Amino acid sequence: MDLLKKIKNNWIKKFSYPFIIAGPCSAENEKQIINITKKLNKSYVEVLRAGIWKPRTKPGMFEGNGEEGLKWLVKAKKLYNILLATEVANKEHIKLALKYNIDILWIGARSTCNPFTIQEISDSLKNSNKIILIKNPLNLDIDLWKGAIERLIRNNIKNIGIIHRGFTIYKNYKYRNQPCWLEVLKLKEKYPNIPIICDPSHISGNSKYIYEISKKAINYGYDGLMIEIHDNPKEALSDAQQQITPKKLTEILSKILLNKPIIKKYLNYLDIYRTNINEIDENILHLLKNRFLSSYEIGKIKNKYKIDILQKNIMLKQKENYKNISKKLNLNERLIQKIFDKIQKESIKMQLKS
Ligand code: PEP
Ligand code: MN
Repeated sequence: MDLLKKIKNNWIKKFSYPFIIAGPCSAENEKQIINITKKLNKSYVEVLRAGIWKPRTKPGMFEGNGEEGLKWLVKAKKLYNILLATEVANKEHIKLALKYNIDILWIGARSTCNPFTIQEISDSLKNSNKIILIKNPLNLDIDLWKGAIERLIRNNIKNIGIIHRGFTIYKNYKYRNQPCWLEVLKLKEKYPNIPIICDPSHISGNSKYIYEISKKAINYGYDGLMIEIHDNPKEALSDAQQQITPKKLTEILSKILLNKPIIKKYLNYLDIYRTNINEIDENILHLLKNRFLSSYEIGKIKNKYKIDILQKNIMLKQKENYKNISKKLNLNERLIQKIFDKIQKESIKMQLKS
């Protein structure tokens, strides 16, 4: 029996559609939290988010304010009657988050990657009625994500949701984390009772893309959004590039919600496959750029050591290799040959230019 099919989630119905969580990446100080909460447009935003323990890539960076930060959140809740959400990554975090009665806990992308961490979190929350949101793992491994959901369900944690925050794939170009709309929508279709939220801030890594990603998510039928905001984004102690002001958030949300999305399955899929093709094409262009840059570097080395630019045997070997791969992938071999003839010619031009 597929355990995930047993989920009968009603928690999202208690919120408005779309369900909006907003707040700073990190709770930096009391003034910042109170200021942001005050400026939040309560007609859209029902939950204030703020990181208390920050998983940073390198040591020595700002790692959050811990328990002190929880006190600021509680104060903001009392003053402005808003629900609270924060990230937990171990049993100590959970103990403190429960002590301060944080309403929603989320599990970060780095934690979802690690089954030991997920098990520890799940065991600490056994039989809990809290709303727990699980971000996708950093790597595009949907089973790992499903495994995390299942570890929670096995401990009778029923109020679960998932957050799509993009994936680390082979070199991310436009966005900080590549959204994988198709894979995530397939997961949603298989488990329609698990609410799904999009985190455009961590997908984009850049405030200028928040609108386009949020709009896409709502059009694809997501239940809500989690967006990072800051009263002075440039000065933020973490994720400064991707945070927007509360005012900008209101602008974005009102623009998105002005035209209520028409949710039709076939339309979504048509659109989502088109998006997929556009994203693949953009990746091909970036890869080509990288290929030509490498050719340019090869040209410099050849010049330095007086090696002939044209090395026919190497080019023939490459062609033979691509032909074999095309055969295996069931691609049109003649087409691929034509494409690579042109690419190789351009690469030689790049080498000659260097
Ligand atoms: C965050 O929400 O601030 C965060 C650290 O997110 P993620 O786990 O998606 O990187
Ligand atoms: Mn962040």
